[in-house]
Amino acid sequence: TLSCGTLPGNTHAPTGPALPVLSDGVRVPLAAGGEVEYAALDYAASAPALRSVWADVAEFAPLYGSVHRGAGYLSQRATELFERSRETVASFLGCRPDDRVVFTRSTTDSLNLLATALPAGTHVFVFETEHHAALLPWRRHHVTHLPAPRSRAAAVRAAEAALADAPAGAPKLLCVTGASNVTGELWPVRELAAAAHRHGARVVLDAAQLVPHRAVDVSELDVDWVAFSGHKLYAPFGSGVLAGRADWLDTAEPYLAGGGATRVVARGADGRLTAEWSAGEARHEAGSPNVIGAYAIAAACRALSAAGYGALAEHEERLLGVLRDGLAAVPAVRELSLFGQDAPRIAVVSFTVAGRDSAEFARELSERYGIGVRSGLFCAQPLVRRLLGEADADGDCEGPVQAIRASFGAGTPAEHVHRLI
Ligand code: PLP
Repeated sequence: TLSCGTLPGNTHAPTGPALPVLSDGVRVPLAAGGEVEYAALDYAASAPALRSVWADVAEFAPLYGSVHRGAGYLSQRATELFERSRETVASFLGCRPDDRVVFTRSTTDSLNLLATALPAGTHVFVFETEHHAALLPWRRHHVTHLPAPRSRAAAVRAAEAALADAPAGAPKLLCVTGASNVTGELWPVRELAAAAHRHGARVVLDAAQLVPHRAVDVSELDVDWVAFSGHKLYAPFGSGVLAGRADWLDTAEPYLAGGGATRVVARGADGRLTAEWSAGEARHEAGSPNVIGAYAIAAACRALSAAGYGALAEHEERLLGVLRDGLAAVPAVRELSLFGQDAPRIAVVSFTVAGRDSAEFARELSERYGIGVRSGLFCAQPLVRRLLGEADADGDCEGPVQAIRASFGAGTPAEHVHRLI
């Protein structure tokens, strides 16, 4: 029987670094006949859901109901669990007491939401190495695109110089990534945030790749907002988070206009229909929210906190070493790197194979070996083109036009990595 009173205390929280995932043991057909256990090495695109998250969601599912709307028991319970999910995420991210935690569809959605909430005249600074989701939402503002830095220290120096040069007076925002979805390299978030704050700028952290691999604490990193996606954090369903400072969010026009974002809709004295917008998170969560998605994110936060990021990072570091050493021993393989071979990184590795088309190679990995990787430009075209050495504006390209990316995390067995090598 279901004891909804105990639901938020995760009854399925696993212990230890293994954190089993749903794709464990899934068997897939091979082109030559037969089948093999699927090697999911595309976590950076979408990680398989944790089994514990799936179990928590299954436990929640019978309580599914409309949130913030219904008077019935299930609506009330769903509302309570939705709001408790928000609290779980706030504490997982180390949010400040007044921070907002807005549930969105994804990182892309979160950053676009923030872009609509910037005060008029905001000057945005963003490295051109970013994922398109972090590079493009600011296009209606004044944007400075910072060129690709070749070291972590150079990134801080470049941001500092650009921010120092910006005219005083206008609000400023620096958008930084926590970990690259192309090279896996970690960016110096704390140092970049400190540089931004020295020049009166706010900071938003794209934590889409960072938060599945490292603890992200908003207060400790001293960033103003953080954005991430549930589907990369071992939670299924289309949900994401934008968490951070309330002021700009509370004064902005709602991201979506509709039910829930409004307190009063009525005709004014002039006979025109006007809306008085809600305060708090509801202002940007118009429409019926993805309550299961939010609950799944909170379940993932609880599972990762219970397992501990230390254990997770240790597991990944070990396999990352095996993968990188293995690839380095293959003369035809070239790993892509912006900050150099020794830069700290998460379990994301992009590479090319001399003389081989990356898309075809990735397809072959799937068909012959049951390995799921990704090929392409990884929605970070300026960075990947640069790393492939084809930034030539004339389109006079030589060498590979795409790369192959392998990425993994919780639940990945060593055999999957060995099979790829
Ligand atoms: N930022 C980074 C660094 C990413 O890797 C991704 C997705 O790959 C995104 C943002 C966008 O995430 P989503 O597609 O979930 O919106």
